[in-house]
Amino acid sequence: VGVYLYINSLKLVNYRNYDELLVEFNKKVNLIIGMNGQGKTNLVEAIGFMSIGRSFRTNKDRELIKFSAENLYCGCDFTRNNIDKKIEIVVAKDKKGVKVNGVSIKSMQELLGNLNVVIFSPEDLRLVKDGPKERRSFIDKEVSQIMPRYYSLLTNYNKILHQRNTVLKSYRIDENLLDVYDETMSTYASEIYIIRNRFIEKLSEISRKIHKNLTMDKENLTIIYKNQVDLESGQDASQVRLNLLEKLKESRQGDMITRATKVGPHKDDMKIFINDIDVRMYGSQGQQRTASISLKLSEIELIKQEVGDYPVLILDDVFSELDQTRQKMLVEKLENIQMFVTSADPLHKDILDIEDYSIFSIENGRLIGVENGGV
Ligand code: ATP
Ligand code: MG
Repeated sequence: VGVYLYINSLKLVNYRNYDELLVEFNKKVNLIIGMNGQGKTNLVEAIGFMSIGRSFRTNKDRELIKFSAENLYCGCDFTRNNIDKKIEIVVAKDKKGVKVNGVSIKSMQELLGNLNVVIFSPEDLRLVKDGPKERRSFIDKEVSQIMPRYYSLLTNYNKILHQRNTVLKSYRIDENLLDVYDETMSTYASEIYIIRNRFIEKLSEISRKIHKNLTMDKENLTIIYKNQVDLESGQDASQVRLNLLEKLKESRQGDMITRATKVGPHKDDMKIFINDIDVRMYGSQGQQRTASISLKLSEIELIKQEVGDYPVLILDDVFSELDQTRQKMLVEKLENIQMFVTSADPLHKDILDIEDYSIFSIENGRLIGVENGGV
């Protein structure tokens, strides 16, 4: 079985600290090494940018443009199921253009799902320990890749939520307007609830297996979708919508006092249990980290299940954070996955005991060496 999705080459112009870079990648393992602050994360950030049109480090596209430059270009050629494809993004001070296979797209939704990428960085090891916001953003990023339509549902929901909050903050609150927003908001929200529920059910199932593996059968991981509409699987959108409308009504008076919307998918969370103990509150640091790894690894498996092939996997600085067992777990996931591993420690090539790899040395936004290896 061959690799199904892999990036062949990447071109950057004025991206972060890169003037111009053209690099051809290995279909399997790409090790990106260099000292701190040289541009390793910038390079993998660009790969993630091609995938979802957004950086995993910032929401402000202009931060990606090289200091003193006016615009950036970022393009990559990749192969999926033996078909060659291309994504290109141009960012100018306040506009962005995206082309897929040479054709300009009209909305970001059209970009999603072309090149699936999973990025694993040290912050992800805190996924379980962090606040609900981080976990929601984990869910949103994953679901958007699997189901581009979800992204537009979310965008629409957030737009109306913002408008509703603006009304709540106005001097004289127009309740008729709130009624209108509640109606539209709950339409989008009900679909978001149902999709998230389905996603978390699958995530729970997959991560339970992975976590068992990681802990040598000692720990049972359970993930539960926490939402304010008491969602049960099998409920249809109209039921969920009515539920939410009722909750919105109940909290209306309170919302008008605090001037913010207190119910809706923007308050969702996941509860994470190990052997029936809430890991976030009572788990040890090691348990929290391992549970986070299980969640991240599930993401890879879930994408494979839903879209048919594995995503490209980026491990940014995360390898050295893991003990040997977990490093091995990750590497064993390798088959049929193209990987990008960044590290300031060149010794990592010994840990990655693999058949086909390339090592790229980065210095001050330049590629200063490529070494191909393998057994
Ligand atoms: P570490 O090993 O510490 O993680 P790294 O190799 O991953 O380092 P990067 O985060 O890729 O480092 O690159 C950081 C460098 O990029 C910094 O020196 C920073 O000044 C530079 N940089 C960031 N944004 C821009 C930009 N818009 N224009 C020019 N340089 C930038
Ligand atoms: Mg880095």
